[in-house]
Amino acid sequence: MRDGTDMAVSAALLKWYDVHAREMPWRVGPAARAAGVLPDPYRVWLSEVMLQQTTVAAVRDYFHRFTARWPSVEALAAAPDADVMGEWAGLGYYARARNLLKCARVVAEEHGGRFPDTYEGLLALPGVGPYTAAAIAAIAFDRAETVLDGNVERVMARLHDVHVPLPEAKPVLKDLAARHTPEARPGDHAQAVMDLGATICTPRGPACGICPVMEICAGRRAGTAAELPRKSPKKPKPTRYGYAYLARRADGALVLERRPDKGLLGGMLGWPGSDWSDAPSVEPPFAAEWREFPGEVRHTFTHFHLILRLFVAELPEDAAPEGYEIMGRHAFRPSELPTVMRKAYSLWRDA
Ligand code: SF4
Repeated sequence: MRDGTDMAVSAALLKWYDVHAREMPWRVGPAARAAGVLPDPYRVWLSEVMLQQTTVAAVRDYFHRFTARWPSVEALAAAPDADVMGEWAGLGYYARARNLLKCARVVAEEHGGRFPDTYEGLLALPGVGPYTAAAIAAIAFDRAETVLDGNVERVMARLHDVHVPLPEAKPVLKDLAARHTPEARPGDHAQAVMDLGATICTPRGPACGICPVMEICAGRRAGTAAELPRKSPKKPKPTRYGYAYLARRADGALVLERRPDKGLLGGMLGWPGSDWSDAPSVEPPFAAEWREFPGEVRHTFTHFHLILRLFVAELPEDAAPEGYEIMGRHAFRPSELPTVMRKAYSLWRDA
């Protein structure tokens, strides 16, 4: 049940959002929204999938390129897998790109190109979890769903002076966020809380003096806001090791492999290589005069650090190792490689 304070919070946030909403390429701002412009669910969905684990700044260019190349969900559904994976390269978390395509095809083929307009309908789509379903339902369809991302968690913890550490505090913070969600303009409200967290109630040094909810904020009153939300200590990430094998033919073509769909960097192009573990196999992927290359590539994934050593080889012009892709010098675009593979290429090329 919403009480007067809950309503005062959402009213203050909406008033602030009407003036200070961030401009984003996928967003319909409050003035246009009030004038009746509806958000395009395709653009909202695409932005939400891209924003999972990534920042707004990192996503903007990708969003522009995707929507210029594939302006509708049907266009994206009809795109070849390799084109989409190539365009996604560098954004990371490649399972998202594979699910993006799966989802586009389900929407195009099973829903006549229209996204479901409820939380449950959206949740049934590939790659759409509870957070994304709630965000699309609220932003694209103005459903009164509660959207809980890192920004919202921080704002709720401070507003209510919650000292339970994350991730244990998530259900409590979600309940609090739900209490503030209004029936009218829930989409704008969700974006208002996110914007507040991104621009005023920032992780370090919240700007309480210009905050639209400063009068109601328990964390500010208690002087604890900057310490919140508390977080349980993270386990240190382990380090894994691996080898990558970079081979170039006399005509400049390169030998690459398309990684299996399942697993890390699934479906992406990369250099042939070993497993990544404590003691990776040093067995080369195919016969060549491999020589160890000086230096190493360091890259951090969500759950581990990787140290990659390189082996390189020059091959005759007619070499075509079985099971690998031969990519001509002019067809090869390093930007289509995932970041770790691009780092390996740069190390070799720049030596
Ligand atoms: Fe965050 Fe300060 Fe606003 Fe409270 S008053 S919500 S701590 S910026």
